[in-house]
Amino acid sequence: MQTIEQTRNALQQLVAPALQTESLPLLQAVGRIAAEPVVAAFDMPAFDNSAMDGFAIAFHADSTNTAFHLIGTVFAGDAQSMHLQPGQAARVFTGARLPANTSAVVMQEQCEWTDSTLQIQQLPPAGQHMRRAGSELAKGSDILQRGQIISPLHTGLLASLGVAALTVYRKLRVAVLSSGNELCEPGQALSSGQIYDANRPQLLALLQACGFEAIDAGIVRDDPAQIDARLKASLAQADVLITSGGASVGEADWMREVIAGLGQLHQWKVSIKPGKPLGFGTVLGKPVLMLPGNPVSALVTLWMIAMPWLRRCAGAADAALPQRRVRLSAAVSNHDQRPHLMRSTLECTEQGWLATVSAQQGSGALSSLAQADCLVEVPPQTCFSAGDTAIAWLLPQTGTQLL
Ligand code: AMP
Ligand code: MG
Repeated sequence: MQTIEQTRNALQQLVAPALQTESLPLLQAVGRIAAEPVVAAFDMPAFDNSAMDGFAIAFHADSTNTAFHLIGTVFAGDAQSMHLQPGQAARVFTGARLPANTSAVVMQEQCEWTDSTLQIQQLPPAGQHMRRAGSELAKGSDILQRGQIISPLHTGLLASLGVAALTVYRKLRVAVLSSGNELCEPGQALSSGQIYDANRPQLLALLQACGFEAIDAGIVRDDPAQIDARLKASLAQADVLITSGGASVGEADWMREVIAGLGQLHQWKVSIKPGKPLGFGTVLGKPVLMLPGNPVSALVTLWMIAMPWLRRCAGAADAALPQRRVRLSAAVSNHDQRPHLMRSTLECTEQGWLATVSAQQGSGALSSLAQADCLVEVPPQTCFSAGDTAIAWLLPQTGTQLL
């Protein structure tokens, strides 16, 4: 059996879809992956300006004079460039372009003034309350790297540098297909022996939340001719195809045979629980991933094994999954030979992050997945006591994670 890491590496052998780019308005680019680096087009701030409402004053280094002659006013946005001589001052407001030769700015609360005179209590240090041109960023500074995910926190900086559009990678189109005679579309009435298709909505939702264009390829019955036709049709409109179910050794499991017939298939037994059987290959020159049918196994293998590869295919420079060291709230043990990725909830305590492993760890138990914040990794043949530390792989939670 292959380790999780070995399988992730083996996935890299698959043909990666060619990356394409598009230009998007700044706001639409949030959550997308930068396809080109962005550098500052000019110094930031672009000109010396006041950090306070107050007075710009000019004085010689050895001066002790605290009385100034007021020669004018500059508001934020004023284009005028005034020039101060030592002993002169100008009324300025926050963001106003400072007169040339300004030594410092004094906040108005520390000033007394008339139309033409200014009296301050003491001379400030040179440069006080002045925002100097280029003091934050020099022209040419790195703002975004290629492959970086554009966050809402980048948008203010980009806008302040005049960036209105960004070149990003086109979303990777990932089609998701479910297979099984027992599967029924939610919204339709179940016949005897049927279950609702949980994998497709779950995988589509996860992919969508992670920034992919998720394409619904529907449900296909356990029939080689129908699987063959559906694989071809799905791949025609996608960069990558992900299937679930029909991939193991049952008599109705046709997926492997059909994929092998159409292209190339590598079947892997991965040392991961839940999970284990995982296939990947190339059909019609495009990558296909074959996930297990059990819903939690399908999601865990997608997240733990396929997601870093998919993120790299989408152009992300940092494709690693988010993880955190956590303390365990109770004892847990794994008697298996495979690492067990246990659905758990997380809580922030004064002693750090505390993980509580769910009692429901069956490979079909979606109820504990719906509650989970993370997957706690319990290595093979390991018993953890309450308070022990472990690695938790964070799952994407609404509003907290852009991938
Ligand atoms: P299979 O790999 O096709 O043998 O499926 C393994 C288990 O997962 C069976 O209990 C299937 O009914 C179940 N299963 C397969 N696909 C899905 C799906 N799309 N939604 C929910 N359960 C599924
Ligand atoms: Mg099946």
